[in-house]
Amino acid sequence: VDKAIIMDAQAVKRALTRVAHEIVERNKGVGDLTLVGIRTRGVPLAQRIAEEIKRIEGIELPVGVLDITLYRDDLSTLAYQPIVHETLIPFSINDKKVVLVDDVLFTGRTVRAALDAIMDIGRPAAIQLAVLIDRGHRELPVRADYVGKNVPTSGKEIVSVQLTSVDGSEQVVIKEI
Ligand code: 5GP
Ligand code: MG
Repeated sequence: VDKAIIMDAQAVKRALTRVAHEIVERNKGVGDLTLVGIRTRGVPLAQRIAEEIKRIEGIELPVGVLDITLYRDDLSTLAYQPIVHETLIPFSINDKKVVLVDDVLFTGRTVRAALDAIMDIGRPAAIQLAVLIDRGHRELPVRADYVGKNVPTSGKEIVSVQLTSVDGSEQVVIKEI
């Protein structure tokens, strides 16, 4: 059941523009930055942040992909195991700063798996985390450096993130499960 639209297309766009500016400001430029999106929706989000950064700084950042699947029946079941399936990072991350990008941050388990996968393939200077939505309920000591919107959720709610390139529509909706 749809409960509320918490971001429309304009709000998503503005949040990504702000996050891009924050990334540029925090890192005092983007010379040593790379982006890595977590499939599915972290990838188009990373690409859109890269486009904004290109607009702001005139520099095109490489975007890598991590495919991490959660082994659980549905989003209401906790204590699942995220498995890294595929790592598509066709550029060196050694001594680079890596900005991980995902759509929703929840328990932090996916990010933990992503950190492992990245540190298996190189020695980054730093890893930062950008998410469109932080819905709370962390089970690990993980926090995002850049947040599109904080959305406190109850245990019965999930967040539906819809992006034009994946879903044909663009909005963020809270759903009751
Ligand atoms: P975590 O590993 O932090 O528990 O969950 C984060 C991962 O699960 C992200 O890759 C995210 O896509 C997905 N996820 C967790 N909760 C939600 C949610 O409410 N809505 C959506 N769209 N994805 C979620
Ligand atoms: Mg995901």
